[in-house]
Amino acid sequence: MKSSFDLKNLVRPNVLKMKPYSSARDEYKTDGRKMTFLDANENPFDNGVNRYPDPQQGKVKHVLASQKGVSEAQILLGNGSDEVLDLIFRAFCQPQVDNVITLPPTYGMYKVLAGLNEVEDREVVLKTDFQPDVDSILQKVDERTKIIFLCSPNNPTGNSFSEASIEKILKSFNGLVVIDEAYIDFSAERSWLERLHEFPNLVITQTLSKAFGQAGIRLGICYASEEIVDILNKIKPPYNVNELSQQKALTQLKNSEVVKEEVQLILKERELLRTNLSKMAFVKEIFPSDANFLLVRVEDADKKYKQLVEAGVVVRNRSNQELCENTLRFTVGTPDENKELIEVLKRLKA
Ligand SMILES: *Cc1c(COP(=O)(O)O)cnc(C)c1O
Repeated sequence: MKSSFDLKNLVRPNVLKMKPYSSARDEYKTDGRKMTFLDANENPFDNGVNRYPDPQQGKVKHVLASQKGVSEAQILLGNGSDEVLDLIFRAFCQPQVDNVITLPPTYGMYKVLAGLNEVEDREVVLKTDFQPDVDSILQKVDERTKIIFLCSPNNPTGNSFSEASIEKILKSFNGLVVIDEAYIDFSAERSWLERLHEFPNLVITQTLSKAFGQAGIRLGICYASEEIVDILNKIKPPYNVNELSQQKALTQLKNSEVVKEEVQLILKERELLRTNLSKMAFVKEIFPSDANFLLVRVEDADKKYKQLVEAGVVVRNRSNQELCENTLRFTVGTPDENKELIEVLKRLKA
């Protein structure tokens, strides 16, 4: 392992050397005057979206920065977290040379992106309590390990990783530690954003797809040091967040009271669902959840899954993931949807 954190050693050499594409909207920065833009070959007739969007999404970042207590230069936005995660792979992992560490059972995209980018994925299965096996993780690290992906709260298990485990990984590993906080707004734990300034190797991803109710606009967020964000900015497609998504994101971010109310309702419904499920004979275990879903161990998950689909309810069968034999993942729906799920489950014959 390298003796200390040095970002230059982590970045792919070609990325370090390259010059980013300079778009028309990058080259000329508006200074508040009314200007005539004849620089980007757009159609000049106004219809709301005839102009290219702001490549740096300044308005959205401005709101996020003030809400989260970070600077705009510490934020990178992408077309969903999936793009953000892909940018992280492509900036730091040299195909066929570097490796990353992931902790199954977890979000499937890390492995897909590793495969796409020809980067070895070293898997270290979670312990049976779904916490990271820190010693085994650190043992897997070698001089080509660039990134450790931690998903907390974790999908599909629903739990948060302990602060002590994450802190130990952050302090012992000189590559990047990406904490995927897609479900943080449902969690009782605090976000690692509060401690971003303590760790130069920390990268946090969040999204508007879950608690914020904006899965359709595809807006993923990355918080990291300015140096890391600079590198990701260099390789991102210039106009990666479209104008409609930027406008909708702004509206929703300013709607934080509604989002908070919805989150509270979802959490209440989650616990109601837990209570109702716990009374069913075929339910063997309901795992603790810090997210908007429950992972549930049942008798014959494959059969239950099919029966649910036949009755018109689609859940996720997670049975073929490590430690998840015979589990179904139920997303918490509206009160009516949750009632429907429970009614259908009650009617199923074992
Ligand atoms: C749903 C989810 C995301 C969201 O990805 P987007 O591309 O932002 O929609 C990210 N990480 C995890 C673990 C998720 O479950």
